Amino acid sequence: MNARALDRLELEDALRVAIERQQLALHFQPKYSLASGAVTGAEALLRWQHPERGWISPVQFIPLAEETGLIVPLGEWVIEEACRTIRLWQGTALNGMRLAINISAEQVARTNVAELVMRALWKHGVQPHLLELEMTESLLMRDVNTAKVMLHTLKDAGITLAIDDFGTGYSSLSYIRQFPLDSLKIDRSFVLNLHNDADDAAICAAIIAMAKKLGLKIVAEGIELEQQRQFLHSAGCDEGQGYLFARPMPAQELQRLIEVAPEKRGTYDD
Ligand code: C2E
Ligand code: MG
Ligand code: MG
Repeated sequence: MNARALDRLELEDALRVAIERQQLALHFQPKYSLASGAVTGAEALLRWQHPERGWISPVQFIPLAEETGLIVPLGEWVIEEACRTIRLWQGTALNGMRLAINISAEQVARTNVAELVMRALWKHGVQPHLLELEMTESLLMRDVNTAKVMLHTLKDAGITLAIDDFGTGYSSLSYIRQFPLDSLKIDRSFVLNLHNDADDAAICAAIIAMAKKLGLKIVAEGIELEQQRQFLHSAGCDEGQGYLFARPMPAQELQRLIEVAPEKRGTYDD
């Protein structure tokens, strides 16, 4: 236990240094239309390059950042960097592509996310609809009234809103109906066994059918196999993200991906 505590302390110190010394980077995973195969947008995923340990996964350091409060500077950095990036994309093949960032529950509890986002958009001269925020159900359920106010403020400002990892939490569509959401992302755990587990297939189909009735755009996460893509497409899922299409990559690679195949460039307008 001591060794583990020490490890965490070390990691916490290192994370502080990482934020100061800019050892953090955003990678970008494109989202695709399942009907046309065109890129419809991208998700920014945080990466930390530790000088000795190499790349550390966000699955490891986001929970630590949430516990220690470091999520506040970290989250601010992500918002700022995402807006800077969208601005940089103007005048490149990525002009007009919507970029999604992940917002964590602790970030919402400790800061005024709506204000931070609007300040960053304004500072970089970015149109609000080009930024999308992904939040989990548990974040929204933690303090429903605060979440409602925040989401309405963001929505009124023209920012796109998505619910992430849907299916892993409360999974109540009647509950999420209270929030002004644009899209719903089906969690990777349901997509994983879609092709050989009838229950997961039924759950996915039911989520898609219900979310469509509520007017939400549906995105499936973690598509790795062609059979999964086909099933989701025929069940009415709009978009997909996953290793079958592309892994998260640095901005230059995403730019090249669109430059070499301009037909992949979606209209980015829905
Ligand atoms: P998420 O937002 O649900 O992101 C999707 C995760 O699934 C990413 O992992 C992505 O690399 C991975 N993924 C995408 N397609 C596939 C696939 O086909 N197969 C498999 N096995 N995995 C796939 P990543 O980058 O490790 O991020 C993990 C989680 O960390 C994210 O889940 C998100 O909750 C959190 N995270 C990442 N960046 C940020 C950030 O900037 N802020 C906050 N608060 N959380 C972040
Ligand atoms: Mg996400
Ligand atoms: Mg997710």
